[in-house]
Amino acid sequence: MSDTAAVPTHCPYCALQCGMGLRPTGGAQPPVEVVERASFPVNRGALCGKGRTAPAVLSSRVRLTGPLVRDPATGDLAPASWEEALDAVARGLRRTRDGHGPDAVGVFGGGGLTNEKAYALGKFARLVLATSQIDYNGRFCMSSAAAAHQRAFGLDRGLPFPLEDVPRTGCVILVGSNPAETMPPALRHFTELRENGGKLIVVDPRRTRTAELADLHLAPRPGTDLALALGLLHLVVAEGRVDEAFVAERTTGWEAARAPVMAHWPEQVERITGVPVPRLREAVALFCDADSSMVLTARGPEQQSKGTDTVGAWINLCLATGRAGRPLSGYGCLTGQGNGQGGREHGQKADQLPGYRKLDDPAARAHVAGVWGVAPESLPGPGRSAYELLDALGGEVRALLLMGSNPVVSAPHAAHVEERLRSLDFLAVADVVLSETAALADVVLPVTQWAEETGTTTNLEGRVLLRRRALDPPPGVRTDLEVLHGLAARLGWEKGFPTDPEEVFEELRRASAGGPADYAGIDYRRIAAEDGVFWPCPAEDHPGTPRLFLDRFATADGRARFVPVTHRPAAEEPDAAYPVVLTTGRVVAQYQSGAQTRRVAELNAAAPGPFVELHPRLAARIGVAEGEPVAVVSRRGRAVAPARITGAIRPDTVFMPFHWPGEGRANTVVNPALDPVSRMPEFKVCAVRLERA
Ligand code: SF4
Repeated sequence: MSDTAAVPTHCPYCALQCGMGLRPTGGAQPPVEVVERASFPVNRGALCGKGRTAPAVLSSRVRLTGPLVRDPATGDLAPASWEEALDAVARGLRRTRDGHGPDAVGVFGGGGLTNEKAYALGKFARLVLATSQIDYNGRFCMSSAAAAHQRAFGLDRGLPFPLEDVPRTGCVILVGSNPAETMPPALRHFTELRENGGKLIVVDPRRTRTAELADLHLAPRPGTDLALALGLLHLVVAEGRVDEAFVAERTTGWEAARAPVMAHWPEQVERITGVPVPRLREAVALFCDADSSMVLTARGPEQQSKGTDTVGAWINLCLATGRAGRPLSGYGCLTGQGNGQGGREHGQKADQLPGYRKLDDPAARAHVAGVWGVAPESLPGPGRSAYELLDALGGEVRALLLMGSNPVVSAPHAAHVEERLRSLDFLAVADVVLSETAALADVVLPVTQWAEETGTTTNLEGRVLLRRRALDPPPGVRTDLEVLHGLAARLGWEKGFPTDPEEVFEELRRASAGGPADYAGIDYRRIAAEDGVFWPCPAEDHPGTPRLFLDRFATADGRARFVPVTHRPAAEEPDAAYPVVLTTGRVVAQYQSGAQTRRVAELNAAAPGPFVELHPRLAARIGVAEGEPVAVVSRRGRAVAPARITGAIRPDTVFMPFHWPGEGRANTVVNPALDPVSRMPEFKVCAVRLERA
């Protein structure tokens, strides 16, 4: 059903940011209904169940409708006025800052926050709190791909081309990505690729619904994607398929990168990955015989303690074969969170300022400080990455302001993170429901939801989009911008934190101008008129940049950089005590920590709880039958969930989705070993043993 009278907007959940319309239901609940908006090219009207049911959270009976402050007498959260709640937060943050210094106060943001909120939160941390200790949950999402992008191309934009290019290329290697579960409307681009005669190769240890669509499915052991990419590149060299002219004209560093490639013989790669040599040869032929081809990664290769190098190996494959910086070819990352792209561009990342500027770059500091009207030297330096920040809670970081994140469920080594959160002197959480993290807070601030406020997001293609307010929020909630405005005023900053999102965006444009993610030429009017504008867009008469790198890469010399990378084991390999590999991921009916989607009846019915997916041989070995509880035990803890037995997973691997708290919380088990460059935790590989529970 389409409706031209409906308010055009975008889904609140994943990075596809599907276009949809919202129409009032005339007093019924939920207060708006979703209608089709076929004109938006990314999803062309299609939505998954999460997007379709998103209005249910607006009228959820468990939605927070007023602030809560912990009563020191009873220890319980109790209703409070907004004045009382904001006073309590300002008092808690100020007391810690005065007693222990500004870096004892931390700020934790989220990849679901709009660009305006991410910008305001970073500015609030660095100006009002003067703390370096800010990071966000996007660190757990695409940080390895972002780091590899920066190293190779000098710029990080998830996809350097629109998704509409996918059906028109010749071959796509989809690495550790399962859009059939994570972003179903995107699947259409891959099915059209095949209908057009293109080839799809899926790399995944599980035979997912996406893998079932592929021309070729490669199922490496978790944590060996880097070796797989090196093996493919070895064959490219051995078979004389290197694009020598492209390498000479548009890249640097091939000789140094070539050496580790040649040390990875196909037979050796087969031993490491479990992928037979003939399948490697088949993949090389499909990839190189096509006139154009792409590699797209997602969390599989990225959420590893060598995630940056793993993505780098796939980028090297693209560069050596001339499949980058050319039409319909290139490397891209399918970012996960709703504003995973924009969320990392505007200053809530520990090492970055708005416009994707580096915090330790004197020119960047001077520019942003100028927009903010402060001296550059007053800006703090880089802080801890997300897991390191959470690990420091209760120690060097004693108070935390958290917006748009639920690390009790979503962080690795989650029981430890929960214990760190409990040890804080002061915790304030802004959220729409009493998430597992909000339940630990001293003050809970109820905030508006996507349909009740206007703001921009930047989807996985770098397309800046406008989410429009479609209805009034309930009287007891405020926007995150209003929360920051109120806190800033209480902490001595009467000005500089407007509550109007368009006013914040106008400042963001100035702060980003001239930076890598340049929004200077984008405004609300233009986004609305064009239904999205691709950055970089440095001037109002600039058309935006749907396709990057066609003339030059964003490095100083305009050439892409090969980075030498070599395979190494995961931080925790299976052994006699923990002989099986756990890998974690998502299911189609739940989103991230499930804080919103677990409150939607239709989604809960479709995906009511966690499970342990395991191969029949493994199930037989430990003596569990379908549906029986099985304990997944690592050196950090145990998670218990019903067995789901399937031949679609390797016999040496188990899979758990991570959306639930409690005894089935997968992240209790996960290893927080960090990538040395991106500081990404190793969500995709840890050693476990299985027990009947
Ligand atoms: Fe929303 Fe993502 Fe589903 Fe689209 S695919 S409807 S953006 S959750």
